[in-house]
Amino acid sequence: MGPWRRCHYLLSAATTTSVIIVAMYYLDPHIHMVSRVTDDYVRMAQAGCVAISEPAFWAGFDRGSAEAFRDYFRQLTDFEPKRAAQYGIHHMCWLCINAKEAEDVSLSREVISVIPEFLDQPGVLGIGEIGLNKNTKNEVTIFQEQVELAMKTDELILVHTPHLQDKYRGTRMILDILKADSRVQPGRVLIDHVEEHTIAHALDAGFWVGMTLYPVTKCTPKRSVDLIERYGSERIMANSAADWGPSDPMNMPALLRTLDERKHDALTIHKIAYENPLRFLSQARRFNFDPPLPLRPE
Ligand SMILES: [Zn+2]
Repeated sequence: MGPWRRCHYLLSAATTTSVIIVAMYYLDPHIHMVSRVTDDYVRMAQAGCVAISEPAFWAGFDRGSAEAFRDYFRQLTDFEPKRAAQYGIHHMCWLCINAKEAEDVSLSREVISVIPEFLDQPGVLGIGEIGLNKNTKNEVTIFQEQVELAMKTDELILVHTPHLQDKYRGTRMILDILKADSRVQPGRVLIDHVEEHTIAHALDAGFWVGMTLYPVTKCTPKRSVDLIERYGSERIMANSAADWGPSDPMNMPALLRTLDERKHDALTIHKIAYENPLRFLSQARRFNFDPPLPLRPE
């Protein structure tokens, strides 16, 4: 049995009195299944995916009304969990208006007023992915108003950080806003799409971080393993963020394989793939996933 199979299927002795089973399970904590086909669910389930979380995001076009978001939130909270369940995958989601559409402040405020209607649906994890896109004043306003909603309703927060040239400045702006609010507990916030130049800022401030495994931009599996080797495995998770653009849900298994090739032990791989996302997401008020393996005590 080769190292990858060993890592997949078994087993790592923890102490003389207990044995921890390391199965092939993983969670993808950021993926947009509304824009994926059912074959993706099949492939993910075959690769060991047991649960996903789906943030609300930009559809590729600006929606014309708050009603369009209401329909989208119904899709996220009702239809998509049922579709995922057919393939043995537990679906959870996040609600918000995304940074790209937040430029329209009055529409955004209407959408924010709709969100509480859905916050008590099973499997709703919190507010996300909120954040910045071009770091504009309007985006900042709507980001702050959604943080306010999360604080009032005791929700977890998932933060989208901007792309490429806007990332460093946008990430710093986001972290400054969050750190200035004493109600925000960093352990209940995930700063997503971190890269080499932003990860330390988020980790040092106590936040969870997500590395997004894209084929070209953001992090590749190799770059993500470099980051784990540099920053350790605490409060770090990875995701495919697969959507309607160039992206690949199979990048999560690719990362786990790369970790194995780079000689990381089975428990570290299990921690990145399964325990870390589970530990973060299970803080949500309505977390309703019964995991196939328990978390090891911290
Ligand atoms: Zn996303």
